Amino acid sequence: MEENTAILRARRFLQAHNVTSAPVDVTVLAQAEGFEVKFKELPEGEAGSTLERRGKRYILVNEQDPPMRQRFTILHEIAHHVLGLPSVHGQASEPHDSVLTTSIKRPTEEVACDAFASECLVPLAVIKPLIEGQPFGVQTVAELARRFGASQHCVASQFIKASEDCVAFVVAEQGRIKLAFPSPALRAAGVHLLRGTSVPHGCAAETALSAEDGAVRTAESEGSDWSHSDAAERFSVYEEASFYAPRQQTYSFLTLEALGPAQAAEGASSADEDDELLPELTGELTWKPRKR
Ligand SMILES: [Zn+2]
Repeated sequence: MEENTAILRARRFLQAHNVTSAPVDVTVLAQAEGFEVKFKELPEGEAGSTLERRGKRYILVNEQDPPMRQRFTILHEIAHHVLGLPSVHGQASEPHDSVLTTSIKRPTEEVACDAFASECLVPLAVIKPLIEGQPFGVQTVAELARRFGASQHCVASQFIKASEDCVAFVVAEQGRIKLAFPSPALRAAGVHLLRGTSVPHGCAAETALSAEDGAVRTAESEGSDWSHSDAAERFSVYEEASFYAPRQQTYSFLTLEALGPAQAAEGASSADEDDELLPELTGELTWKPRKR
């Protein structure tokens, strides 16, 4: 099953259950689908599974996992049932709270169920009005993560999908870019982000990685630092990054701004501002530059 199909099915599922706000009540959804949710001691690394016993169906959730993770697990298990996809859980394919980190290796059934779970936990229709006018950054995503009861990773990826701006979410492990997820606008602009390479030298992710303290770092860079696409050259990049200790990863929140005619004019006007000081210094210039 294609990821997009799973996402469309998730939207239909949310509609059928009248889910229109956050946080989504995952236990109620499980019950509505005929499952009782049980928190159990499960082997390390196993997030959850389903079980049928004496005519009753259960979703078992690892009681050791953090609540956000458990919420995702419950939705992932519901997805197996709703999508009619058999579980192919194994050591390397346990439910993940983002389709981003694992879509390369995971079986397609599991990827589809993750996509379904992400869309249910952070529905695009619910997050879209919330991000209007909000910058794509650490603070916004952290607040939304609390509101949705979802991981920052999951929120960031849904934010990117819903955003109309040129933004991107980049996950790096040990300084190597593992995933780079551009917004639709950035894709449309023809900017393809680099993957598998080291993060750009001097970027915020690099600083965040070496500090390992979880503090937010910021940096400015060029579009061409993050992409080899020709189109990237007309963008400047503002980056916020933080280190996520549990996975030894850095998250980079990129906002790209086109260096179009508007930017050129801005550059010119800041030069004028410098010139403005000249009259006082030399007394020769008497005109006032017009500011935009
Ligand atoms: Zn699964």
